[in-house]
Amino acid sequence: MNTNVFRNLSYGVYVVSTLDKERPTGCTANSIMQITSSPATIAVSLNHDNYTNSCIQKNKKFAINILAETSDSSIIGTFGFQSGKEANKFDSVSYSMENDLPILEDSCGYITCEVIDTMETSTHTVFLGKVLDGDVLKKDPAMTYAYYHTVIKGKSPKNAPTYLPEEEEGSSEKWVCGVCGYVYDGNVPFEELGDDYKCPVCGQPKKVFAKKKV
Ligand code: FE
Repeated sequence: MNTNVFRNLSYGVYVVSTLDKERPTGCTANSIMQITSSPATIAVSLNHDNYTNSCIQKNKKFAINILAETSDSSIIGTFGFQSGKEANKFDSVSYSMENDLPILEDSCGYITCEVIDTMETSTHTVFLGKVLDGDVLKKDPAMTYAYYHTVIKGKSPKNAPTYLPEEEEGSSEKWVCGVCGYVYDGNVPFEELGDDYKCPVCGQPKKVFAKKKV
């Protein structure tokens, strides 16, 4: 089977948020789609290992935050490459509360949902959510997964439904972020970048980069 065919499926880039008791938490996701329009329902697929999954099972509610091409790309790293079990991910972003759910300010808009059904697969839970409310926050184009992959040069974390193993290693050595897998390809040699350089995808400092064959 040619698994590259999966790369032709289109996705967006979202942060799925909920509450862990009183504490806002969430994770980056791309397997989200609207299933019906009247009543409006949304399906979201989240890995069992994802802390947000267990929080939604308890809270029975979640919000979809739709990232824009202009959203700060470090949001993807903040919500995608660390666990909400240890980190208070919302500490580093501006947010408000709608329907008792945390809503990112730096996005195209949000949709709040109440869980009406779930389906378990061996690795992921598919949550079916009845839409409670939603609003457009800015008119910039929504970020697609293709934009994230080709323009921001981001990767899928291993527990994403859309994760594909990297193709065979090549022969060129590049500086690679040890947290999110971003490959540095700027014009300035990596060694000459200032110590304040941060990974544009996950916001981690220069010291987490290592030279790897890519
Ligand atoms: Fe990174």
